[in-house]
Amino acid sequence: MASGKHFKYVILGGGVAAGYAAREFAKQGVQPGELAIISKEALGMAPCAEIFVDKVGFTPANCYTSEYQMRCTDVVELVAPYERPALSKGYLFPQRFHVCVGSGGERLLPEWYSEKGIELILSTEIVKADLSTKTLTSAAGANFTYEILLIATGSSVIKLTDFGTQGADSNNILYLREIDDADKLVAAIQAKKGGKAVVVGGGYIGLELSAVLKMNDLDVTMVFPEPWCMPRLFTADIAAFYEAYYTNKGVKILKGTLAVGFDANADGDVTAVKLKDGTVLEADIVVVGVGGRPLTTLFKGQVSEEKGGIKTDSFFETSVPGVYAIGDVATFPLKMYNELRRVEHVDHARKSAEQAVKAIKGKESGESVPEYDYLPYFYSRSFDLSWQFYGDNFGETILFGDSDPASSKPKFGSYWIKDGKVLGAFLEGGSPDENKAIAKVAKTQPLVANIEELKEEGLQFASKI
Ligand SMILES: Cc1cc2nc3c(=O)[nH]c(=O)nc-3n(C[C@H](O)[C@H](O)[C@H](O)COP(=O)(O)OP(=O)(O)OC[C@H]3O[C@@H](n4cnc5c(N)ncnc54)[C@H](O)[C@@H]3O)c2cc1C
Repeated sequence: MASGKHFKYVILGGGVAAGYAAREFAKQGVQPGELAIISKEALGMAPCAEIFVDKVGFTPANCYTSEYQMRCTDVVELVAPYERPALSKGYLFPQRFHVCVGSGGERLLPEWYSEKGIELILSTEIVKADLSTKTLTSAAGANFTYEILLIATGSSVIKLTDFGTQGADSNNILYLREIDDADKLVAAIQAKKGGKAVVVGGGYIGLELSAVLKMNDLDVTMVFPEPWCMPRLFTADIAAFYEAYYTNKGVKILKGTLAVGFDANADGDVTAVKLKDGTVLEADIVVVGVGGRPLTTLFKGQVSEEKGGIKTDSFFETSVPGVYAIGDVATFPLKMYNELRRVEHVDHARKSAEQAVKAIKGKESGESVPEYDYLPYFYSRSFDLSWQFYGDNFGETILFGDSDPASSKPKFGSYWIKDGKVLGAFLEGGSPDENKAIAKVAKTQPLVANIEELKEEGLQFASKI
Protein backbone atom coordinates (compact mmCIF):
# COMPACT_ATOMS: atom_id res chain seq x y z
CA MET A 1 0.00 0.00 0.00
CA ALA A 2 1.33 3.46 -0.90
CA SER A 3 2.24 5.75 1.99
CA GLY A 4 -0.11 8.66 2.70
CA LYS A 5 -3.47 9.14 4.33
CA HIS A 6 -5.81 6.20 4.61
CA PHE A 7 -9.61 6.32 4.96
CA LYS A 8 -12.25 3.62 5.06
CA TYR A 9 -14.42 5.63 2.68
CA VAL A 10 -13.30 8.28 0.20
CA ILE A 11 -15.67 10.44 -1.85
CA LEU A 12 -13.84 11.89 -4.85
CA GLY A 13 -15.49 15.19 -5.79
CA GLY A 14 -17.05 17.93 -3.70
CA GLY A 15 -20.30 18.71 -5.45
CA VAL A 16 -23.93 17.80 -5.02
CA ALA A 17 -23.55 14.02 -4.94
CA ALA A 18 -20.61 14.28 -2.51
CA GLY A 19 -22.58 16.48 -0.11
CA TYR A 20 -25.57 14.14 -0.12
CA ALA A 21 -23.37 11.05 0.25
CA ALA A 22 -21.68 12.63 3.29
CA ARG A 23 -25.05 13.42 4.81
CA GLU A 24 -26.23 9.84 4.27
CA PHE A 25 -23.01 8.46 5.78
CA ALA A 26 -23.59 10.64 8.83
CA LYS A 27 -27.20 9.42 9.03
CA GLN A 28 -26.22 5.77 8.73
CA GLY A 29 -23.32 6.17 11.17
CA VAL A 30 -19.71 6.87 10.39
CA GLN A 31 -16.82 6.90 12.85
CA PRO A 32 -14.60 10.00 13.07
CA GLY A 33 -11.71 9.66 10.64
CA GLU A 34 -13.42 7.02 8.49
CA LEU A 35 -14.68 9.30 5.72
CA ALA A 36 -12.93 11.90 3.56
CA ILE A 37 -14.14 14.12 0.73
CA ILE A 38 -11.42 15.08 -1.73
CA SER A 39 -12.27 17.96 -4.06
CA LYS A 40 -10.42 20.30 -6.32
CA GLU A 41 -12.83 23.06 -5.38
CA ALA A 42 -12.06 25.31 -2.46
CA LEU A 43 -15.53 24.94 -0.99
CA GLY A 44 -17.37 21.68 -0.56
CA MET A 45 -20.53 22.72 -2.22
CA ALA A 46 -22.84 22.48 -5.19
CA PRO A 47 -21.55 24.03 -8.43
CA CYS A 48 -25.01 24.82 -9.62
CA ALA A 49 -26.80 27.79 -11.08
CA GLU A 50 -28.21 28.17 -7.57
CA ILE A 51 -24.95 29.86 -6.57
CA PHE A 52 -24.99 32.27 -9.41
CA VAL A 53 -28.66 32.98 -9.13
CA ASP A 54 -28.18 33.79 -5.47
CA LYS A 55 -25.27 36.08 -6.26
CA VAL A 56 -27.15 38.19 -8.73
CA GLY A 57 -29.97 38.64 -6.32
CA PHE A 58 -32.90 36.47 -7.27
CA THR A 59 -35.66 35.96 -4.76
CA PRO A 60 -36.29 32.57 -3.14
CA ALA A 61 -39.10 32.07 -5.63
CA ASN A 62 -36.48 31.80 -8.33
CA CYS A 63 -34.83 28.81 -6.71
CA TYR A 64 -35.44 25.36 -8.02
CA THR A 65 -37.41 22.78 -6.10
CA SER A 66 -39.76 23.22 -3.20
CA GLU A 67 -37.13 21.42 -1.14
CA TYR A 68 -34.48 23.84 -2.33
CA GLN A 69 -36.81 26.76 -1.95
CA MET A 70 -37.10 25.94 1.74
CA ARG A 71 -33.36 25.89 2.12
CA CYS A 72 -32.89 28.91 -0.01
CA THR A 73 -35.33 31.00 1.96
CA ASP A 74 -32.92 31.14 4.81
CA VAL A 75 -30.01 31.76 2.48
CA VAL A 76 -31.60 34.75 0.89
CA GLU A 77 -33.66 36.28 3.67
CA LEU A 78 -30.94 38.91 3.94
CA VAL A 79 -30.53 39.19 0.19
CA ALA A 80 -31.85 41.90 -2.01
CA PRO A 81 -34.91 41.15 -4.13
CA TYR A 82 -34.20 40.29 -7.71
CA GLU A 83 -34.73 43.83 -9.05
CA ARG A 84 -31.69 44.92 -7.15
CA PRO A 85 -28.41 45.24 -9.04
CA ALA A 86 -25.96 42.43 -9.16
CA LEU A 87 -24.42 42.47 -5.71
CA SER A 88 -26.29 40.50 -3.10
CA LYS A 89 -25.78 39.13 0.36
CA GLY A 90 -24.80 35.90 -1.25
CA TYR A 91 -21.85 37.70 -2.76
CA LEU A 92 -20.98 39.49 0.44
CA PHE A 93 -21.29 36.40 2.62
CA PRO A 94 -20.03 33.59 0.44
CA GLN A 95 -19.79 31.18 3.37
CA ARG A 96 -23.60 31.08 3.35
CA PHE A 97 -23.40 29.11 0.11
CA HIS A 98 -22.58 26.02 2.13
CA VAL A 99 -26.27 25.90 2.92
CA CYS A 100 -26.87 24.87 -0.69
CA VAL A 101 -25.30 21.49 -0.07
CA GLY A 102 -27.68 20.37 2.62
CA SER A 103 -31.37 19.80 2.72
CA GLY A 104 -34.04 18.94 5.20
CA GLY A 105 -32.87 21.54 7.66
CA GLU A 106 -29.33 20.38 8.33
CA ARG A 107 -26.70 22.76 7.02
CA LEU A 108 -23.52 21.22 5.77
CA LEU A 109 -21.17 23.99 6.84
CA PRO A 110 -17.48 23.12 7.31
CA GLU A 111 -18.21 22.84 11.05
CA TRP A 112 -20.78 20.12 10.30
CA TYR A 113 -18.07 18.00 8.67
CA SER A 114 -15.62 18.51 11.50
CA GLU A 115 -18.30 17.70 14.12
CA LYS A 116 -18.98 14.43 12.32
CA GLY A 117 -15.26 13.67 11.98
CA ILE A 118 -15.49 13.82 8.17
CA GLU A 119 -12.31 15.13 6.62
CA LEU A 120 -12.73 17.77 3.91
CA ILE A 121 -9.65 17.71 1.73
CA LEU A 122 -10.27 20.72 -0.49
CA SER A 123 -8.31 22.50 -3.24
CA THR A 124 -6.89 19.06 -4.01
CA GLU A 125 -7.09 17.77 -7.55
CA ILE A 126 -6.66 14.05 -7.98
CA VAL A 127 -4.61 13.43 -11.11
CA LYS A 128 -4.18 9.66 -10.85
CA ALA A 129 -6.46 6.92 -9.62
CA ASP A 130 -5.13 3.38 -9.33
CA LEU A 131 -8.06 1.15 -8.52
CA SER A 132 -5.87 -1.96 -8.21
CA THR A 133 -3.89 -0.51 -5.29
CA LYS A 134 -6.85 1.62 -4.10
CA THR A 135 -4.72 4.76 -4.31
CA LEU A 136 -5.54 8.30 -5.40
CA THR A 137 -2.70 10.72 -6.11
CA SER A 138 -3.10 14.49 -6.01
CA ALA A 139 -1.48 17.06 -8.29
CA ALA A 140 0.82 17.93 -5.38
CA GLY A 141 1.90 14.29 -5.12
CA ALA A 142 -0.04 13.29 -1.98
CA ASN A 143 -1.41 9.74 -1.86
CA PHE A 144 -4.76 8.75 -0.39
CA THR A 145 -5.79 5.14 0.06
CA TYR A 146 -9.27 3.80 0.72
CA GLU A 147 -11.30 0.67 1.19
CA ILE A 148 -14.44 2.01 -0.51
CA LEU A 149 -14.37 4.75 -3.16
CA LEU A 150 -17.30 6.87 -4.35
CA ILE A 151 -16.57 8.61 -7.63
CA ALA A 152 -18.51 11.89 -7.67
CA THR A 153 -16.46 13.94 -10.11
CA GLY A 154 -19.46 15.34 -12.01
CA SER A 155 -19.00 17.07 -15.35
CA SER A 156 -16.77 19.71 -16.86
CA VAL A 157 -18.06 22.34 -19.27
CA ILE A 158 -17.39 22.00 -22.95
CA LYS A 159 -15.40 25.07 -24.03
CA LEU A 160 -15.26 26.65 -27.47
CA THR A 161 -11.46 26.49 -27.19
CA ASP A 162 -11.89 22.67 -27.21
CA PHE A 163 -13.04 23.04 -30.83
CA GLY A 164 -10.32 25.57 -31.69
CA THR A 165 -12.93 28.29 -32.37
CA GLN A 166 -11.02 31.38 -33.47
CA GLY A 167 -10.63 33.97 -30.68
CA ALA A 168 -12.39 31.74 -28.13
CA ASP A 169 -9.66 32.41 -25.56
CA SER A 170 -10.47 36.16 -25.43
CA ASN A 171 -11.30 37.76 -22.09
CA ASN A 172 -14.95 37.88 -21.01
CA ILE A 173 -15.90 34.70 -22.85
CA LEU A 174 -17.36 32.96 -19.81
CA TYR A 175 -18.73 29.60 -18.71
CA LEU A 176 -20.56 28.52 -15.58
CA ARG A 177 -19.70 25.40 -13.69
CA GLU A 178 -17.86 26.30 -10.52
CA ILE A 179 -17.77 29.12 -8.01
CA ASP A 180 -14.81 30.76 -9.75
CA ASP A 181 -16.86 30.88 -12.95
CA ALA A 182 -19.76 32.46 -11.07
CA ASP A 183 -17.40 35.05 -9.56
CA LYS A 184 -16.06 35.95 -12.99
CA LEU A 185 -19.57 36.24 -14.36
CA VAL A 186 -20.74 38.46 -11.51
CA ALA A 187 -17.65 40.66 -11.96
CA ALA A 188 -18.25 40.92 -15.71
CA ILE A 189 -21.93 41.75 -15.24
CA GLN A 190 -20.98 44.51 -12.84
CA ALA A 191 -18.19 45.82 -15.08
CA LYS A 192 -20.29 45.82 -18.24
CA LYS A 193 -23.59 47.24 -16.97
CA GLY A 194 -25.75 48.39 -19.86
CA GLY A 195 -23.43 46.62 -22.29
CA LYS A 196 -24.04 43.89 -24.82
CA ALA A 197 -24.09 40.22 -23.92
CA VAL A 198 -24.19 37.32 -26.35
CA VAL A 199 -25.27 33.96 -24.99
CA VAL A 200 -24.05 31.01 -27.04
CA GLY A 201 -26.26 27.95 -26.57
CA GLY A 202 -30.00 27.44 -26.29
CA GLY A 203 -30.14 24.86 -23.51
CA TYR A 204 -31.18 25.45 -19.93
CA ILE A 205 -27.92 27.23 -19.04
CA GLY A 206 -28.37 29.53 -22.04
CA LEU A 207 -31.99 30.24 -21.12
CA GLU A 208 -31.35 30.77 -17.41
CA LEU A 209 -28.31 32.97 -17.98
CA SER A 210 -29.98 35.04 -20.71
CA ALA A 211 -32.70 35.86 -18.20
CA VAL A 212 -30.16 36.72 -15.50
CA LEU A 213 -28.18 38.96 -17.86
CA LYS A 214 -31.34 40.69 -19.08
CA MET A 215 -32.49 41.27 -15.51
CA ASN A 216 -29.11 42.87 -14.91
CA ASP A 217 -29.79 45.39 -17.66
CA LEU A 218 -27.58 43.96 -20.36
CA ASP A 219 -28.63 43.95 -23.99
CA VAL A 220 -28.87 40.19 -24.57
CA THR A 221 -28.76 38.13 -27.77
CA MET A 222 -29.04 34.34 -27.66
CA VAL A 223 -27.50 32.32 -30.49
CA PHE A 224 -27.97 28.61 -31.11
CA PRO A 225 -27.87 26.30 -34.12
CA GLU A 226 -31.05 24.30 -33.51
CA PRO A 227 -34.48 25.29 -34.87
CA TRP A 228 -35.75 25.98 -31.33
CA CYS A 229 -34.46 26.26 -27.76
CA MET A 230 -33.99 23.23 -25.46
CA PRO A 231 -34.54 20.86 -28.39
CA ARG A 232 -33.58 17.78 -26.37
CA LEU A 233 -36.67 18.26 -24.21
CA PHE A 234 -38.94 20.98 -25.57
CA THR A 235 -41.34 20.38 -28.42
CA ALA A 236 -41.62 23.16 -31.00
CA ASP A 237 -44.84 24.30 -29.24
CA ILE A 238 -43.25 24.51 -25.81
CA ALA A 239 -40.18 26.29 -27.20
CA ALA A 240 -42.38 28.79 -29.07
CA PHE A 241 -43.80 29.95 -25.74
CA TYR A 242 -40.40 30.50 -24.10
CA GLU A 243 -38.90 32.15 -27.16
CA ALA A 244 -41.82 34.57 -27.43
CA TYR A 245 -41.71 35.25 -23.67
CA TYR A 246 -37.97 36.00 -23.83
CA THR A 247 -38.47 38.17 -26.91
CA ASN A 248 -41.16 40.14 -25.06
CA LYS A 249 -38.64 40.66 -22.26
CA GLY A 250 -36.22 42.13 -24.80
CA VAL A 251 -33.92 39.13 -25.36
CA LYS A 252 -33.03 38.77 -29.04
CA ILE A 253 -32.92 35.20 -30.33
CA LEU A 254 -30.93 34.09 -33.37
CA LYS A 255 -31.60 30.48 -34.32
CA GLY A 256 -30.06 28.13 -36.84
CA THR A 257 -26.59 29.64 -36.70
CA LEU A 258 -23.31 29.11 -34.87
CA ALA A 259 -20.60 31.25 -33.29
CA VAL A 260 -17.56 30.59 -35.47
CA GLY A 261 -15.13 33.22 -34.15
CA PHE A 262 -14.58 36.18 -31.85
CA ASP A 263 -12.90 39.58 -32.23
CA ALA A 264 -10.97 41.11 -29.36
CA ASN A 265 -9.43 44.53 -28.66
CA ALA A 266 -5.77 45.24 -27.86
CA ASP A 267 -6.35 44.20 -24.21
CA GLY A 268 -7.65 40.82 -25.34
CA ASP A 269 -11.25 41.62 -24.31
CA VAL A 270 -13.93 40.21 -26.57
CA THR A 271 -15.61 42.84 -28.76
CA ALA A 272 -17.64 40.81 -31.26
CA VAL A 273 -19.05 37.39 -32.05
CA LYS A 274 -18.86 36.22 -35.65
CA LEU A 275 -21.66 33.90 -36.74
CA LYS A 276 -21.62 31.27 -39.44
CA ASP A 277 -24.28 33.12 -41.42
CA GLY A 278 -21.94 36.13 -41.67
CA THR A 279 -23.62 38.22 -38.96
CA VAL A 280 -21.28 40.01 -36.57
CA LEU A 281 -22.67 40.80 -33.10
CA GLU A 282 -21.02 43.36 -30.86
CA ALA A 283 -20.31 41.87 -27.45
CA ASP A 284 -18.90 43.02 -24.11
CA ILE A 285 -19.62 39.65 -22.49
CA VAL A 286 -20.10 36.25 -24.08
CA VAL A 287 -21.58 33.48 -21.99
CA VAL A 288 -21.27 29.98 -23.39
CA GLY A 289 -23.54 27.10 -22.39
CA VAL A 290 -22.96 24.33 -24.89
CA GLY A 291 -23.03 21.33 -22.60
CA GLY A 292 -20.83 19.30 -20.31
CA ARG A 293 -18.80 16.11 -20.27
CA PRO A 294 -18.71 13.60 -17.45
CA LEU A 295 -15.30 13.55 -15.75
CA THR A 296 -14.36 9.90 -16.06
CA THR A 297 -10.86 10.05 -17.60
CA LEU A 298 -9.09 9.11 -14.34
CA PHE A 299 -10.80 5.72 -14.47
CA LYS A 300 -10.50 4.92 -18.21
CA GLY A 301 -9.60 1.30 -18.78
CA GLN A 302 -10.13 0.47 -15.09
CA VAL A 303 -13.94 0.35 -14.92
CA SER A 304 -16.63 -0.62 -17.42
CA GLU A 305 -18.13 2.35 -19.22
CA GLU A 306 -21.41 2.78 -21.05
CA LYS A 307 -23.13 5.72 -22.74
CA GLY A 308 -20.28 8.06 -21.86
CA GLY A 309 -20.38 7.31 -18.15
CA ILE A 310 -19.17 4.77 -15.61
CA LYS A 311 -21.43 1.73 -15.70
CA THR A 312 -22.99 0.81 -12.37
CA ASP A 313 -25.59 -1.55 -10.99
CA SER A 314 -28.77 -0.40 -9.22
CA PHE A 315 -26.69 0.27 -6.11
CA PHE A 316 -24.18 2.42 -8.03
CA GLU A 317 -21.39 -0.10 -7.63
CA THR A 318 -19.12 -0.18 -10.68
CA SER A 319 -17.48 -3.20 -12.33
CA VAL A 320 -14.77 -2.90 -9.65
CA PRO A 321 -16.06 -4.14 -6.28
CA GLY A 322 -15.99 -1.45 -3.61
CA VAL A 323 -15.89 1.36 -6.18
CA TYR A 324 -19.11 3.31 -6.64
CA ALA A 325 -20.00 6.06 -9.14
CA ILE A 326 -22.72 8.61 -8.34
CA GLY A 327 -24.24 11.74 -9.87
CA ASP A 328 -23.42 12.90 -13.39
CA VAL A 329 -20.74 10.25 -14.01
CA ALA A 330 -22.93 7.18 -13.40
CA THR A 331 -24.63 5.20 -16.17
CA PHE A 332 -27.13 3.18 -14.16
CA PRO A 333 -30.12 0.89 -14.77
CA LEU A 334 -33.21 3.04 -15.01
CA LYS A 335 -35.62 0.44 -13.72
CA MET A 336 -38.88 1.86 -15.05
CA TYR A 337 -37.57 2.00 -18.62
CA ASN A 338 -35.47 -1.15 -18.32
CA GLU A 339 -32.39 0.50 -19.82
CA LEU A 340 -29.09 2.05 -18.84
CA ARG A 341 -29.07 5.85 -18.63
CA ARG A 342 -26.82 8.66 -17.52
CA VAL A 343 -28.64 11.64 -15.99
CA GLU A 344 -27.03 15.08 -15.51
CA HIS A 345 -29.47 16.54 -13.02
CA VAL A 346 -29.28 17.56 -9.43
CA ASP A 347 -32.20 15.44 -8.22
CA HIS A 348 -30.50 12.28 -9.46
CA ALA A 349 -27.14 13.42 -8.02
CA ARG A 350 -28.77 13.62 -4.59
CA LYS A 351 -30.73 10.39 -4.83
CA SER A 352 -27.93 8.29 -6.36
CA ALA A 353 -25.60 9.41 -3.57
CA GLU A 354 -28.09 8.35 -0.91
CA GLN A 355 -28.70 5.02 -2.64
CA ALA A 356 -24.97 4.21 -2.90
CA VAL A 357 -24.33 4.95 0.77
CA LYS A 358 -27.38 2.92 1.85
CA ALA A 359 -26.07 0.03 -0.26
CA ILE A 360 -22.54 0.31 1.20
CA LYS A 361 -23.88 0.37 4.75
CA GLY A 362 -26.45 -2.34 3.94
CA LYS A 363 -23.65 -4.65 2.74
CA GLU A 364 -21.81 -4.09 6.00
CA SER A 365 -24.82 -4.81 8.17
CA GLY A 366 -26.27 -7.56 5.98
CA GLU A 367 -29.46 -5.59 5.34
CA SER A 368 -30.85 -5.55 1.82
CA VAL A 369 -31.56 -2.29 0.02
CA PRO A 370 -34.22 -1.94 -2.69
CA GLU A 371 -33.05 -1.36 -6.26
CA TYR A 372 -32.85 2.26 -7.40
CA ASP A 373 -36.14 3.14 -9.01
CA TYR A 374 -35.73 6.62 -10.40
CA LEU A 375 -38.32 8.77 -12.13
CA PRO A 376 -36.46 11.26 -14.37
CA TYR A 377 -37.17 14.78 -13.20
CA PHE A 378 -35.89 18.05 -14.67
CA TYR A 379 -36.79 21.62 -13.92
CA SER A 380 -35.74 25.16 -14.57
CA ARG A 381 -36.69 28.68 -13.57
CA SER A 382 -36.07 31.96 -15.31
CA PHE A 383 -37.66 35.37 -15.12
CA ASP A 384 -40.91 34.56 -13.29
CA LEU A 385 -41.35 31.27 -15.10
CA SER A 386 -40.93 27.82 -13.66
CA TRP A 387 -41.34 24.43 -15.31
CA GLN A 388 -41.06 20.83 -14.28
CA PHE A 389 -40.83 17.70 -16.40
CA TYR A 390 -41.18 14.08 -15.31
CA GLY A 391 -40.67 10.85 -17.21
CA ASP A 392 -39.62 10.33 -20.79
CA ASN A 393 -40.09 12.57 -23.81
CA PHE A 394 -40.80 10.02 -26.50
CA GLY A 395 -43.84 9.61 -28.71
CA GLU A 396 -46.69 11.81 -29.82
CA THR A 397 -47.26 15.03 -27.87
CA ILE A 398 -50.19 17.21 -27.03
CA LEU A 399 -50.16 20.73 -25.64
CA PHE A 400 -52.80 21.92 -23.18
CA GLY A 401 -53.60 25.04 -21.17
CA ASP A 402 -52.76 28.69 -21.65
CA SER A 403 -49.48 29.00 -23.53
CA ASP A 404 -50.00 32.60 -24.56
CA PRO A 405 -46.68 34.33 -23.72
CA ALA A 406 -48.58 37.58 -23.18
CA SER A 407 -50.82 36.08 -20.45
CA SER A 408 -50.38 37.52 -17.00
CA LYS A 409 -50.04 34.01 -15.56
CA PRO A 410 -49.44 31.45 -18.26
CA LYS A 411 -50.02 27.84 -17.25
CA PHE A 412 -49.66 25.09 -19.80
CA GLY A 413 -48.30 21.64 -20.25
CA SER A 414 -47.60 18.73 -22.53
CA TYR A 415 -48.00 14.99 -22.37
CA TRP A 416 -45.89 12.52 -24.34
CA ILE A 417 -47.87 9.46 -25.40
CA LYS A 418 -46.38 6.22 -26.70
CA ASP A 419 -48.14 2.89 -27.29
CA GLY A 420 -51.31 4.37 -25.80
CA LYS A 421 -49.63 5.32 -22.50
CA VAL A 422 -48.58 8.70 -21.14
CA LEU A 423 -44.80 8.48 -20.68
CA GLY A 424 -43.90 12.04 -19.87
CA ALA A 425 -45.49 15.21 -18.53
CA PHE A 426 -44.36 18.85 -18.61
CA LEU A 427 -45.93 21.75 -16.76
CA GLU A 428 -45.16 25.46 -16.76
CA GLY A 429 -46.47 27.49 -13.85
CA GLY A 430 -47.78 24.54 -11.82
CA SER A 431 -48.47 24.61 -8.09
CA PRO A 432 -46.65 22.04 -5.91
CA ASP A 433 -49.79 19.83 -5.96
CA GLU A 434 -50.13 20.10 -9.72
CA ASN A 435 -46.46 19.22 -10.17
CA LYS A 436 -46.98 16.20 -7.91
CA ALA A 437 -49.93 15.19 -10.07
CA ILE A 438 -47.92 15.27 -13.32
CA ALA A 439 -45.15 13.30 -11.60
CA LYS A 440 -47.71 10.65 -10.75
CA VAL A 441 -48.82 10.50 -14.38
CA ALA A 442 -45.24 9.90 -15.54
CA LYS A 443 -44.71 7.29 -12.85
CA THR A 444 -47.93 5.34 -13.38
CA GLN A 445 -48.05 5.76 -17.20
CA PRO A 446 -51.86 5.69 -17.48
CA LEU A 447 -53.54 4.50 -20.67
CA VAL A 448 -55.08 7.10 -22.95
CA ALA A 449 -58.21 6.13 -24.81
CA ASN A 450 -58.63 9.31 -26.80
CA ILE A 451 -55.89 11.85 -27.45
CA GLU A 452 -58.36 14.64 -28.28
CA GLU A 453 -60.04 14.11 -24.89
CA LEU A 454 -56.66 14.16 -23.19
CA LYS A 455 -55.93 17.51 -24.80
CA GLU A 456 -59.32 18.82 -23.62
CA GLU A 457 -58.79 17.54 -20.09
CA GLY A 458 -55.21 18.79 -19.78
CA LEU A 459 -54.22 19.12 -16.14
CA GLN A 460 -57.56 17.63 -15.03
CA PHE A 461 -56.38 14.31 -16.43
CA ALA A 462 -53.39 14.40 -14.06
CA SER A 463 -55.44 15.34 -11.04
CA LYS A 464 -57.64 12.23 -11.54
CA ILE A 465 -54.69 9.79 -11.46
C1 LIG B 1 -24.80 26.38 -14.04
C2 LIG B 1 -25.51 25.08 -13.78
C3 LIG B 1 -26.87 25.07 -13.58
C4 LIG B 1 -27.55 23.90 -13.31
N1 LIG B 1 -28.89 23.92 -13.11
C5 LIG B 1 -29.55 22.78 -12.89
C6 LIG B 1 -30.97 22.78 -12.70
O1 LIG B 1 -31.62 23.80 -12.78
N2 LIG B 1 -31.59 21.59 -12.47
C7 LIG B 1 -30.89 20.41 -12.41
O2 LIG B 1 -31.48 19.36 -12.20
N3 LIG B 1 -29.55 20.39 -12.59
C8 LIG B 1 -28.87 21.53 -12.83
N4 LIG B 1 -27.52 21.49 -13.04
C9 LIG B 1 -26.84 20.19 -13.05
C10 LIG B 1 -26.44 19.77 -11.66
O3 LIG B 1 -25.80 20.83 -10.99
C11 LIG B 1 -25.52 18.54 -11.75
O4 LIG B 1 -26.24 17.48 -12.35
C12 LIG B 1 -25.01 18.13 -10.38
O5 LIG B 1 -24.21 19.16 -9.83
C13 LIG B 1 -24.21 16.84 -10.48
O6 LIG B 1 -23.67 16.53 -9.23
P1 LIG B 1 -22.28 15.76 -9.11
O7 LIG B 1 -21.99 15.69 -7.65
O8 LIG B 1 -22.32 14.54 -9.94
O9 LIG B 1 -21.21 16.71 -9.79
P2 LIG B 1 -20.75 18.16 -9.38
O10 LIG B 1 -21.78 18.82 -8.55
O11 LIG B 1 -20.30 18.81 -10.64
O12 LIG B 1 -19.48 17.90 -8.46
C14 LIG B 1 -18.31 17.36 -8.96
C15 LIG B 1 -17.18 17.74 -8.03
O13 LIG B 1 -16.03 16.96 -8.30
C16 LIG B 1 -14.88 17.77 -8.30
N5 LIG B 1 -13.85 17.10 -9.10
C17 LIG B 1 -13.95 16.72 -10.39
N6 LIG B 1 -12.80 16.12 -10.78
C18 LIG B 1 -11.98 16.10 -9.71
C19 LIG B 1 -10.65 15.63 -9.48
N7 LIG B 1 -9.94 15.04 -10.43
N8 LIG B 1 -10.12 15.81 -8.25
C20 LIG B 1 -10.82 16.39 -7.27
N9 LIG B 1 -12.09 16.87 -7.43
C21 LIG B 1 -12.65 16.72 -8.64
C22 LIG B 1 -15.41 19.06 -8.89
O14 LIG B 1 -14.56 20.12 -8.62
C23 LIG B 1 -16.74 19.18 -8.15
O15 LIG B 1 -16.55 19.69 -6.86
C24 LIG B 1 -26.82 22.67 -13.29
C25 LIG B 1 -25.44 22.68 -13.51
C26 LIG B 1 -24.79 23.86 -13.76
C27 LIG B 1 -23.30 23.87 -14.01
